[in-house]
Amino acid sequence: MPLLACLQTVLPSRGVAQAARSQTRAHPNAHGWPDEASWEQLGRDVQGRLVKVQSPLVTCAQSPASPRCEQIFKQLKNPYYLRDEVGLTQSLGWVDAWTSKPSLYAVAAESADDVVAAVNFARKHNLLLVVKGGGHSYQGTSNAADSLLIWTRKLVGVTVHDEFVGVGCAGQVEPVPAVTVGAGAIWGQIYDAVTTKAGQYVQGGGCLTVGVAGLILSGGFGSFSKRYGLAAASLLEAEIVTADGMLRVANACTNPDLFWGLKGGGGGSLGVVTRLTLRTHDLPELFGTTNMVIKAASEAAFRRLIGQLIRFYSEALFNPYWGEQISFRPGNVLAIAMLFQGLSQTQAESTWRPFLDWIVAAPQEFTLISPPTILSVPAQQFWDPELLSKVPGLVVTDDRPGSPASNIFYANNVGEAGQVLHGYQSAWLPAMLLRPEHQDRLAGALFEASRHWSVTLHVNKGLAGASAEAIAGARDTATNPFVLEAFALLISAAQGPPAYPGIAGREPDLLTARRRAGAIGKAMAEIERVLPVRGAYVAEGDFFDANWRESYWGASYPRLLAVKDKYDPDGLFVVHDGVGSERWSADGLTRLPTP
Ligand SMILES: Cc1cc2nc3c(=O)[nH]c(=O)nc-3n(C[C@H](O)[C@H](O)[C@H](O)COP(=O)(O)OP(=O)(O)OC[C@H]3O[C@@H](n4cnc5c(N)ncnc54)[C@H](O)[C@@H]3O)c2cc1C
Repeated sequence: MPLLACLQTVLPSRGVAQAARSQTRAHPNAHGWPDEASWEQLGRDVQGRLVKVQSPLVTCAQSPASPRCEQIFKQLKNPYYLRDEVGLTQSLGWVDAWTSKPSLYAVAAESADDVVAAVNFARKHNLLLVVKGGGHSYQGTSNAADSLLIWTRKLVGVTVHDEFVGVGCAGQVEPVPAVTVGAGAIWGQIYDAVTTKAGQYVQGGGCLTVGVAGLILSGGFGSFSKRYGLAAASLLEAEIVTADGMLRVANACTNPDLFWGLKGGGGGSLGVVTRLTLRTHDLPELFGTTNMVIKAASEAAFRRLIGQLIRFYSEALFNPYWGEQISFRPGNVLAIAMLFQGLSQTQAESTWRPFLDWIVAAPQEFTLISPPTILSVPAQQFWDPELLSKVPGLVVTDDRPGSPASNIFYANNVGEAGQVLHGYQSAWLPAMLLRPEHQDRLAGALFEASRHWSVTLHVNKGLAGASAEAIAGARDTATNPFVLEAFALLISAAQGPPAYPGIAGREPDLLTARRRAGAIGKAMAEIERVLPVRGAYVAEGDFFDANWRESYWGASYPRLLAVKDKYDPDGLFVVHDGVGSERWSADGLTRLPTP
């Protein structure tokens, strides 16, 4: 029986109780929308932190050729500018999927009390409610027109602990080193406090400007997840405001069902997290990078190269030391951009020697168009903003006057700032494809896919081959258990520069976008042929995945839905393809009739 059919048989009955509830949310200028006096009261309840939201893009729509608009579009390439604008998100949209729209009002929360007031107001007035942290959602789940936004931008404290025990856990669990962070913090800020300053390791994401809460709630992978696991698995405790307006603690001892759901159950679905405490670890001595780009002279040579790479990966790199990306590109190009932990530069070089010897032995077939660079650095310096700023071409700084020098982001994330997505699909590849008898099928699928569009293996985003600790931790999360069988998440994606419908001369390029989305679809169809099951990562999945429940949560979905029904029975928190969203219209405004 297909898994989805299974899921449907175990979905709890929703008939009578829900039939009595309001079926449609309030809408501006319609009956039930709060009057001015009510908004003013909310403003007082949150100490003046209620803002009427206006997107800077309105200026551009009105005067697209003005210097001011030119300046705004330049700033759309700065993720820190995007983070500081209440009316913007890191992606401006996804062609044929969504367009970033500002909320009407936002509570720029500075305390859990502000969040409680906003949640109570939204519930009382039956509003569409949206939560934004770092604003990096690819699926547009942190913006919605005609909504009230809870913006966590100012909840950014970071405290490092030598010994942490969760509320209600005294005597039940051993104290562990940890870090407590406000829900609006971003990973670069946390790495600076935990690694650069305190010499510890915390499992977060690869991109420095991604929000901590959004990543943890998604599951969360970083470059070294094959060693340290899902970021969500390091969650020790969360403080969260649930739909009833209660400020709760969730950890292994207090509200453990909610705690489990927060670990990978998806952002914006179970409540508003205000604070998180994450386990920290001893820092390895060294981190390192390996980069190279190889071009094959013919299709036959490229096919052979992919076969050799898969063999080499399964023998030498399929272990907790290695993470990040291997790309197969049209034009017969293989690009390696990997990171390692716990190995010296010499050890990393000797790991790669057999593969590089094989390449160099056939100069008529393969050219190293970017020669191998294998480097290691003291792990404590790996995220040091001061040092990173000195490495030519590695990072870009926030160029707004008065910005802190620590506001940096990797140059290879520039393309994603202010992007308009053209297509984005992913699939977990099971480790059985690395067995000698299946390697050829996998190599064939990667080759065929690369005839249509680039496909990239993110080997740190699948936990087969990971440390025992990483695997045990992931088992106790809501993330699709298929992640344990997967050696990599394969991603195929395309995007265009900042663009926005209705701004003359800066409209999204629909023709290019649709052509590319089609090519991605063809590439993924080649990959799908070798997959027993299609599973994908909720934060890096396809907006159009009709089987999203099965893809993102698989066998965990019924338990996750039960948590949703316990803590948010009326569906105050609804996001695209989030748990329970199957009960709502695409815009989140109307509850669908119970089948
Ligand atoms: C450039 C880029 C690089 C990325 N790199 C990685 C990576 O290396 N590893 C990885 O795993 N993922 C990565 N992602 C995906 C990223 O982890 C997710 O998009 C994540 O959800 C973003 O969190 P955010 O707070 O920045 O985004 P937001 O858009 O603010 O939030 C994402 C979702 O979480 C919800 N949410 C945010 N804050 C809260 C809160 N306090 N309480 C409840 N719900 C909340 C929002 O409502 C929304 O549904 C990347 C994304 C981008 C754009």
